[in-house]
Amino acid sequence: MKCLICEERAKGKKEVARFGPIYWDITKAKQIAKERQNIIELPPEQVREEALSPAPREGYSVIGGFETVIDEDHLSHIPDPTEPVIVACLPPYPGGDQGDLPIVIDGHHRMVLAAREGRGVSAYFLSLDESRRCILPKLKLVAAIDRPR
Ligand SMILES: [Zn+2]
Repeated sequence: MKCLICEERAKGKKEVARFGPIYWDITKAKQIAKERQNIIELPPEQVREEALSPAPREGYSVIGGFETVIDEDHLSHIPDPTEPVIVACLPPYPGGDQGDLPIVIDGHHRMVLAAREGRGVSAYFLSLDESRRCILPKLKLVAAIDRPR
């Protein structure tokens, strides 16, 4: 196997990513993204700002305000670096003050590659409603408990 990320993907299991307190079902997000084909363009400046902003820890990148592990080895394993990334809307959550914040939930390595090469990226954009469908139920439950109203 090429690296840990490739190894995990080869198992074909459901892909899950955590940003802030929310666990996203990336497998479902990819499905919705491909069905909907709602593509937006992120200009090179935005990609550079997001993916190359200094992270507090080495080996990490801050994308969409969240720290992401970047595996340098995996950068050369990406089958199609121009495959659109996925942007979802982060719904309001307990302890978080903003709602509907667009964040990149899939394609952080592609973002880093594009930033280093000075390219913009295409992104599948998920509406708030579509985004909510990709949040794993366990976390919806936690949010419901935290919000008694
Ligand atoms: Zn890899």
